[in-house]
Amino acid sequence: MPAIQVADNLILPRLVGPLPESVERSVVKISPARAGLEGAGFPVYRGFAGLTVQDIDPFLMLDQLGPVLNGPFETKGAPWHPHRGFETVTYVLDGEIVHHDSNGGGGIIGDGDTQWMTAGAGILHDEMPTDKILNTGGWQHGIQLWVNLPKILKFSAPRYQGIVASKLTLATSSDGGALVRIIAGDIAAHSGPGSTHTPIAIAHVTLAAGAQLSVPWNPSFNAMVYMLLGGATVGTKRHALTPHHVALFGAGDHMVVSAGDQTADFLLLGGLPIREPVAQYGPFVMNTQDEIRQAFQDFEAGRLGVIPAPSG
Ligand code: MN
Repeated sequence: MPAIQVADNLILPRLVGPLPESVERSVVKISPARAGLEGAGFPVYRGFAGLTVQDIDPFLMLDQLGPVLNGPFETKGAPWHPHRGFETVTYVLDGEIVHHDSNGGGGIIGDGDTQWMTAGAGILHDEMPTDKILNTGGWQHGIQLWVNLPKILKFSAPRYQGIVASKLTLATSSDGGALVRIIAGDIAAHSGPGSTHTPIAIAHVTLAAGAQLSVPWNPSFNAMVYMLLGGATVGTKRHALTPHHVALFGAGDHMVVSAGDQTADFLLLGGLPIREPVAQYGPFVMNTQDEIRQAFQDFEAGRLGVIPAPSG
């Protein structure tokens, strides 16, 4: 799996484990993803399908794209479409996506890279396989996370951050068995490169068989583990978590994930809940239905942006 790797975890800084009085978070819900199709018809697992808006706040959606092995000319993308009112975070574990937006942002998101797009007041974009991937096929595996914006920031200016794999903050567990790639936020005093409007933390962890990660977690954040590949046990009762399942944790100061006899790849996710009404329709996420109607009118009038002329 070609997301960023290191030859030896032991060269990485160790995450300082929880203090003795720290309370371990227990798992309050384990929920399967729902399989579906997105964009022009690529397979996705809707990771949060079984959780409520309140459970996942400040997140809105998690899609795991693949992993899928495509033949030549089979790889599909998402053609031009609008967004308003939130941020999209796309992290590629395997494959390549080329992206353009109506604000002049864009580029290739390759193995281990992250694209962070703040739609804010409005943007149009596409997310397509590169010509190379289209012609040759190959593995595609990634995630797309939607992070909500509070009412006061829904009309902020669109912003684009391209975070290449080498910029991720890497750390390991006290036993050296974890590769923790921090994409955004602070985890045990290590800061990821993503700059967020809403306080959140996201990491992609590879946990070797038999290893354990005990990770301090901001007590005011919600906390989830989404299993991508392999399996592990989570929480105080050591519940089994298998691929395409999410564990939602209750209150506390740290989380424990233990790998069994296989390597586990998972996301650690959490953030400060926004606690505002969520009105969502398709690509728009606002606070009221009136604001959704306005978003459609603004889109149809071209006020969310226009598709730029192809370059080259
Ligand atoms: Mn999109």
